[in-house]
Amino acid sequence: MTIQESRTPSATLPGAVTRGQLFIDGEWRPSSDGGTADIINPATGAVVATVAAGTTADINAAVNAAKAAFAPGRWSGLSGRERSRVLNKAALLIRERAEELALTESTDVGKPITFARVVDVATAADQYEYVAAMAQQLDGSVRETPLQAHAFTKREPLGVVAAITPFNFPLILSSTKIAAALAAGNSVVHKPAGDTPLSALLMAEILTDAGVPAGVFNVVTGSGGTLGDHLVAHAGVSKVAFTGSTEVGRHVAALAGQNLRPVTAELGGNAANILFADADLDKAVGTVIGAFVFNSGQFCMGGPRLLVERRIYETVLGVLKEAVAGVPVGDPRDPETVMGPLASRKQLEKVASYVDGARAAGGQVIVGGEPLDLDGGYFYRPTVIAGLDNDAAAVREEVFGPVLTVQPFDTEEEAIELANATEYGLAAGVQTSSIARAHRVSSKLDAGIVWVNSWALLDPAVPFGGVKNSGWGREYGPEALESYTHTKSVIIGTD
Ligand code: NAP
Repeated sequence: MTIQESRTPSATLPGAVTRGQLFIDGEWRPSSDGGTADIINPATGAVVATVAAGTTADINAAVNAAKAAFAPGRWSGLSGRERSRVLNKAALLIRERAEELALTESTDVGKPITFARVVDVATAADQYEYVAAMAQQLDGSVRETPLQAHAFTKREPLGVVAAITPFNFPLILSSTKIAAALAAGNSVVHKPAGDTPLSALLMAEILTDAGVPAGVFNVVTGSGGTLGDHLVAHAGVSKVAFTGSTEVGRHVAALAGQNLRPVTAELGGNAANILFADADLDKAVGTVIGAFVFNSGQFCMGGPRLLVERRIYETVLGVLKEAVAGVPVGDPRDPETVMGPLASRKQLEKVASYVDGARAAGGQVIVGGEPLDLDGGYFYRPTVIAGLDNDAAAVREEVFGPVLTVQPFDTEEEAIELANATEYGLAAGVQTSSIARAHRVSSKLDAGIVWVNSWALLDPAVPFGGVKNSGWGREYGPEALESYTHTKSVIIGTD
């Protein structure tokens, strides 16, 4: 296939999105100083919406509303079963309004509409359904003790959760935090990414319609530099749930630490995908390509570093050259499009600069290696680079774009060493037909999640998160829900 250059007519964004106001205490309102920010469609460079640029006064109002809603227990005091009903309704409404959400996400981030539907929207709904079930099982246990006492534990919500999310998967990553926080009975103040805040506004409408009481869920849009510090350091916040870069995550964790508030930090990644000669090559190549072009490579758990067993190295480069050139890049609203633009001009420039740096460092661009001029959008051709060693910035650092570096290895030990030679530890992949090797290698990879003969399979039931500089804490699974609670022990004397 060749690059798709077709355009399709634009559809209208939903009202909550075009209204572009803050959602605080169950009401839509402008920012306290009337400030606004334009939101750009990365596929065209055109303004698609204008949102309120929140202020620190708006953060105060949102945290106060969330606290005021928490204290009397109008959400925190409901039984798990009652919260579960509301969260299931939210999942239902997400599915009912799937087209609006998919269109919003596609326009805001530049995601192909097909993936926005089947990945982003579907995953968000799945998350609400999963935690709705879990909310009913958040119970403590009786503890046997030699004391003259009856001792038991309870799981209690923490209070106000600050949910801060990055630009690349706004709906999924906000749902991960918000669904789990709400399921456990917390109130939430959500600060979405400055560039991609639109689906958060639609979710405010959906959660309200589902029955989440006023003040329990609040959205403040605006710049992280202005709002983020204030929110994270706010005395009314009981937990910070952060996903974003390692650099900002480190800053957020330090700031929250001053108030001794717990932080979940889901940070950067730079995963290696190890391709052994015994793998099913056709399947593996598809997996390799998906792992670096999905979401235009703006994918914390993407696979930007391919390590290939030397005896199939040249063959794999040849196959990649042809297959990657055929990835359909273009209009995100075209259902045939597999890769859209980068989410912003800043991302496009960052990717171009890494590829230029890779060339200067002696890398050979096998395919791609240049922007794609389409309707003023921020497109970059999917790119494969060989001939770099581990010291090259494009290998060592998180490029966060559709760029794959390919390095050969001779032995299993060398592959593991190369894979682990990174500050990050979010994900890794092993492509092999040997079960013994799959076990052996996956156990030695420094990563929070390892995919064998697959990539990016995720499920709300399976914990997800990083080690090393990819952060700490887990999202998904019972582990995530528990992190939005504290354990209270009650000991009733019986003598
Ligand atoms: P980012 O620059 O770190 O921003 C993340 C969020 O933090 C945004 O909402 C941002 O607001 C806000 N922020 C900025 N400065 C802040 C401050 N001083 N205090 C508090 N919040 C602040 O990350 P990004 O560029 O949006 O996203 C890409 C990064 O996220 C990559 O490193 C990627 O690997 C990582 N990521 C990790 C995961 C995971 O699960 N581990 C998932 C997705 C992405 P503004 O947007 O308004 O600046």
